[in-house]
Amino acid sequence: METRVETDLLVNTVRHFVETEMFPFEEEVDRLGHVPKEIGRQIESRAHELGLYACNLPEDVGGGGLGYGAMSLIEREYGKTSHALQSWAARPTELLMACEGDQREQYLFPAIRGEKRELFALTEPDAGSDVMGMKTTARRDGDDWVLNGSKHFISGPCMPDFAIVFAATGEDETPRGPRKRVTAFLVDVGTKGFDCREGTKCVSYRGYNTYALSFDNVRLGQDQVLGTEGNGLALSGQWLSMGR
Ligand SMILES: Cc1cc2nc3c(=O)[nH]c(=O)nc-3n(C[C@H](O)[C@H](O)[C@H](O)COP(=O)(O)OP(=O)(O)OC[C@H]3O[C@@H](n4cnc5c(N)ncnc54)[C@H](O)[C@@H]3O)c2cc1C
Repeated sequence: METRVETDLLVNTVRHFVETEMFPFEEEVDRLGHVPKEIGRQIESRAHELGLYACNLPEDVGGGGLGYGAMSLIEREYGKTSHALQSWAARPTELLMACEGDQREQYLFPAIRGEKRELFALTEPDAGSDVMGMKTTARRDGDDWVLNGSKHFISGPCMPDFAIVFAATGEDETPRGPRKRVTAFLVDVGTKGFDCREGTKCVSYRGYNTYALSFDNVRLGQDQVLGTEGNGLALSGQWLSMGR
């Protein structure tokens, strides 16, 4: 729990950051419909200097160690400016804390250091609110998984390095009938069969990027499962409730 003095210091730091590094560019972003890369990179680098980059993740993995109370104060300040600009001051998804073994070196730590950017890819063209309607599947093939399907409306300030992709990996019998088993995968941009391109522009969030992802027989190793097989929905629920 932060003291009142610490909280005031934090809020004033973020407020000043927003006023000096984001407010001046709002009009330009509005006019252009995108954030020029050099402006985005400048925000990113100032966020590092101020200790705000990845401030939501625990200190023992290199994050800022801020709790939900402090994060809500930060988000309130960020909420005063353009979403397109403030998304460059990254708060990598806390889902990455589910990384284990080599995944921590490959995904978690680079995301915290700002060397890699991730996407959270759940929504599909025919499955938004209805997550269970997802058509993206990953089927086992020997020791591998083969991923097929598509995602859209996936947020990211710039072309990502990898995506956390949710796919149906089977079906479980439950007292209420069959239920899709959903698993999360860490998928690198550049993997054969994985297409990641800029998607639909938002009307309300001027200049904000979303990506459209498609998977055509993308081969993944068992070490690309995030968490365990079948716990994807629990992980995605964690992300959504943190965001809210
Ligand atoms: C700016 C932006 C960023 C986003 N970023 C991400 C991201 O990073 N990752 C990601 O995975 N997704 C992302 N999304 C997608 C977002 O999570 C979906 O838009 C959301 O889940 C709703 O899905 P949908 O758009 O398909 O709407 P629909 O599910 O088609 O819903 C349309 C409307 O119908 C209502 N509705 C739907 N079902 C019912 C029902 N059964 N009963 C009553 N009303 C209903 C909804 O409340 C809504 O008002 C983003 C979306 C936006 C706009």
